Amino acid sequence: GEVHALVAHQDDDGNIDLISEIVDDSFLPEGDVEIAIEYSSVNFKDALAVTPKGGVARSYPLIPGIDLAGTVRSSTSPEFAAGDVVVAHGYDIGTARHGGYADTTRLPADKVVKLSGLTAAEAAAIGTAGFTAAMSVEALVRHGITPSDGPVLVTGATGGVGSVSVDLLAAAGYEVVASTGKPDAAVLLRTLGASEIIGRVPEEGEKVRALGKSLWAAAVDCVGGTTLAYVLSTLNYGGVVAASGLAGSADLPTTVHPFILRGVTLAGIDSVQLPIAPRRALWAKLGAELKPPHLEALTTDVAVAELPKSIKTILRGGVTGRTRVVVAGG
Ligand code: NAP
Repeated sequence: GEVHALVAHQDDDGNIDLISEIVDDSFLPEGDVEIAIEYSSVNFKDALAVTPKGGVARSYPLIPGIDLAGTVRSSTSPEFAAGDVVVAHGYDIGTARHGGYADTTRLPADKVVKLSGLTAAEAAAIGTAGFTAAMSVEALVRHGITPSDGPVLVTGATGGVGSVSVDLLAAAGYEVVASTGKPDAAVLLRTLGASEIIGRVPEEGEKVRALGKSLWAAAVDCVGGTTLAYVLSTLNYGGVVAASGLAGSADLPTTVHPFILRGVTLAGIDSVQLPIAPRRALWAKLGAELKPPHLEALTTDVAVAELPKSIKTILRGGVTGRTRVVVAGG
């Protein structure tokens, strides 16, 4: 059959073009579960995947889209049946294997998550960024942080990881301080449950000290760079930061002082290689007690044709909330 897809091609000069195409389904790799994709999303990593030297995509032509959600069309694996509502993300999806910006995909059963308590539309709204937010919140809980310990800082608070983190933390009863470069998003952040909104940290021109004033019990950071260094130096004694990203920078200009003088923990978060069993378990929680209460408020829908523009916007940190891609049927 034919597959409608947005395909990233690289030319001889290294430029990458996104072209809407109809490809033969032999373009897709083999896999025991064939999925009719209804939704995908736009993550920071999707932008890197179509950026020259972005360091994410293995080869071109590539159908990008690190998230996909939809309905199983057919399956040779007994784990799935036609009609199952599923989500898939992580591993090589959208980077080294064709991803969600198409109306069809085929995947090995052990990369697919059957949804419970979530529609395909909700799962795509959560997507990799929201899943990473859930992993971050779980990491703080696992390290013993409770609401009575004090405020939790969320950096990059209007972004995908950030906004879902604010929503999940506030729902769990934490006092959330949202750090953002977008003052216009204050209303949304309050709706999600932030109790205080501050600018980006450190402030422009502010030097990060080896140890600063203790301000937060914990933090969720997807920005990296001097922001993560600032977070480490301002956590309370015994504080924890769940670090997942590099939206600001991949550098980490810090010292050992927060670790050896304040017992601070740097908890690394990786959603990509997380094995399928804990991945399915966390999705089950996201469909139940961990469901983000304000998912619709923080989600914007775009059509596949709008993707080139959305990708440019997310690269410069300009996106607020989650961007869901309506691929088909929605
Ligand atoms: P996003 O929606 O673009 O969110 C990033 C946010 O960070 C922006 O909205 C902006 O928020 C802030 N920001 C952007 N540029 C900045 C800068 N130069 N300095 C300070 N803040 C800046 O992206 P996302 O999809 O949520 O991903 C965020 C990061 O997490 C990316 O680096 C991504 O690769 C990473 N990530 C990692 C994993 C994992 O498994 N480890 C999974 C998902 C994402 P404000 O304007 O509100 O400040």
